[in-house]
Amino acid sequence: MSQPYLLYVTPDGAIAEARDLAAVDYEGQPLDPADLLPLPAGATVAMMPGRRAVGRDNAGARVALPAQAGWAISAFLPIGYTRTRVPGYQMADPAEIPANAETLPFFGYTALAGLDGAIYAAAVPTDDPARWHPDAFDPRQLERRVRRRLLAEPENRVLAHHAHCALDYQCPTASNVFFERWEGAVAVAGGCNARCVGCISKQEEDGLVSPQDRLAFVPTIDEIVAVGVRHLTHAPDAIFSFGQGCEGEPLLQWHTIAGAIQGMRAQTAMGTININTNASNPRAVARLCAAGLDTLRASTISARPATYDAYYRPIGYTLDHVKRSLIVAREAGIYTSINLLLYPGLADAEDEAAAWIAFLRDTGTRLVQLRNLNIDPELLLPKLPPRGPALGLRAFIALLRRELPDLHIGNFSVPVRQGPDGVRLPAHPRGVVA
Ligand code: SF4
Repeated sequence: MSQPYLLYVTPDGAIAEARDLAAVDYEGQPLDPADLLPLPAGATVAMMPGRRAVGRDNAGARVALPAQAGWAISAFLPIGYTRTRVPGYQMADPAEIPANAETLPFFGYTALAGLDGAIYAAAVPTDDPARWHPDAFDPRQLERRVRRRLLAEPENRVLAHHAHCALDYQCPTASNVFFERWEGAVAVAGGCNARCVGCISKQEEDGLVSPQDRLAFVPTIDEIVAVGVRHLTHAPDAIFSFGQGCEGEPLLQWHTIAGAIQGMRAQTAMGTININTNASNPRAVARLCAAGLDTLRASTISARPATYDAYYRPIGYTLDHVKRSLIVAREAGIYTSINLLLYPGLADAEDEAAAWIAFLRDTGTRLVQLRNLNIDPELLLPKLPPRGPALGLRAFIALLRRELPDLHIGNFSVPVRQGPDGVRLPAHPRGVVA
């Protein structure tokens, strides 16, 4: 197979080829054909302004194209694909960097290369993207459904908030509340006890704007129960999920959530009640499990305290609290998962990977959801502590499968059913994708 070659974006936005230069990743390593797949449907190709395109010539020397030629290229992958490499580039001279491009917006910049005239991405398929693909969300039908629902329930602030998320952010889980199917969103918390470097709902970094606004009210139990019962009883494969991108940490409102879960379960046993959380409070988690929670997804970037603290900047809790929350939930029969924030070269660093195996074993976590971390490398990397050499993300996924054969790996939360002794089990058998 021929050598993957450099692609870049010209000043007028066209995709251009430099077939005499091998495509490389952020570390300067050539992209390997075995690590590439044709650009998936639903991917977005984007320039990286202020980043000069970089390749390798036949002698192996690193070559950066002049800023006048254009900028480095990247892709944002559709959910269901895991990025394995970040684009190679060289920061342009400060005078050449366009205004507002010092730090790039929160996207999952994925390395691209040309091969035989086509565009290829450094990625691996890790779940079935069908239910998350933009084609599954008809905007006109959505608008009609939102309008009809808001007319029928004008007082419900949860609906009004997620109508904004569905129509203005095209949020799939908010939209599903109105499509009455699959995983639906419910946000409850305006505050958070972490200060993640890449938070998408509140940014502390100078000059950075978070892509979404945080919820500005705490809904009542009745408002949540009204939306929840409707979703759990009407949606196929219903999951009603606390903890969305448009809020802070839901565990800070665990009283309200516990009351809402009890209220929903008093009316229906259908569907799955889930929480996406930073899992900072094991006692609150125990109360939610007792109230009737079915699944819990804990977000984390590392199983090592130094890396965790550098990214999450936690207030009043530690990675050990996260670990204990997962154990408490597992012991209560809850189907537990990790939302693993992935950046190539981080989780797959030898020491990070070893810590992951131990953490997943100790917590008995059932599912790892691989999540491409949406962040500018220039913002993330200076904040992280040193780590060992990288295995590569394909090798990391293979290592997880080898060391933890019962672990499920994918990209999404799954509906569950009650098994023996009330233990939650996936409602559908897990297919192996990668
Ligand atoms: S835990 Fe969530 S809401 Fe809180 S800072 Fe991190 S990303 Fe933002």
